[in-house]
Amino acid sequence: MTKLKRLLMRRKTLIVAFIAATGSFLLGVTLPMNLRANQPLAPIQAQVLAVSHSQEEQPISNINQFSQAIAHRVELSEQALAQLQEIRFQSGVPSQFQGTTIREAKLDSQHKAIALTFDDGPWPTTTTQILDILKENNIKATFFWVGKYLQTYPEIGKQVAQAGHAIGNHTWSHEYIKYNEDGAAREIDRTSSLIEQLTGIQTSMFRPPGGILNNGLAAYAQKKNYAVVMWSADSFDWRSLTESLMDNVMRQANSGGIVLMHDGGGNRSRTVKVLPDVIARLRKEGYIFVTVPELLQMQEQELQHQETAQK
Ligand SMILES: [Zn+2]
Repeated sequence: MTKLKRLLMRRKTLIVAFIAATGSFLLGVTLPMNLRANQPLAPIQAQVLAVSHSQEEQPISNINQFSQAIAHRVELSEQALAQLQEIRFQSGVPSQFQGTTIREAKLDSQHKAIALTFDDGPWPTTTTQILDILKENNIKATFFWVGKYLQTYPEIGKQVAQAGHAIGNHTWSHEYIKYNEDGAAREIDRTSSLIEQLTGIQTSMFRPPGGILNNGLAAYAQKKNYAVVMWSADSFDWRSLTESLMDNVMRQANSGGIVLMHDGGGNRSRTVKVLPDVIARLRKEGYIFVTVPELLQMQEQELQHQETAQK
């Protein structure tokens, strides 16, 4: 082999190595975006792509600009990932509540906060009607989903999650029977997997169907570190007329309270009809509306303040 040939070979190898290195770096930078392609995060993704397209329109004339472009892309992916993290944790509860059963948060009276919760969806028509009412009132609520309905109406579920509401697990099939550990695992794990697959949300909230705490489901959920979220104010919206539905909520409403309503599992037109009035009445009494995780965070913060005040 001549000297020239050897030199050319070496150069070729170097070029291949350079291309491979650049390629894998770019892959590392852009992979989080590609992964997100499967996640329902269209607004964030569109934003990221819009910016990166405008980047690409300008010719990159030197290596400095090129590395700036890369740095910018990294920054954008980091921002997008941070937003993704936020969504993942919008349904997480503080660790002190994991593995426990909660009926309400203990707040001092100066914080008049309440959490609206909706069970048994996603459900056609009524879930989106409730989403509209919540949006008009600028309220974030908490939805406990039934896995088999989420499987049937995934797009409705995605809408709920994208609107920033908190999501909890309400079993796969919503039955009032006894479960051994394997059965409970199937009901709960399968639902949580589908929630994560469709929305990216890893929920740490479980609500047992019918509020039954002794049929194996709640025990499994606690073992898996879910907070078992019950309620302090039952609207009885599944059997009440609109008038008494309102009374049921107002009579039991308190600071730190959790209100039980339904957006799915049957005809929920009464709930839809009365919800704007329920919100207006509670607001008039000075309540602010938060998700269940936010309510628990408020309790945690109050405890921390008390502890620092005592020191
Ligand atoms: Zn239910």
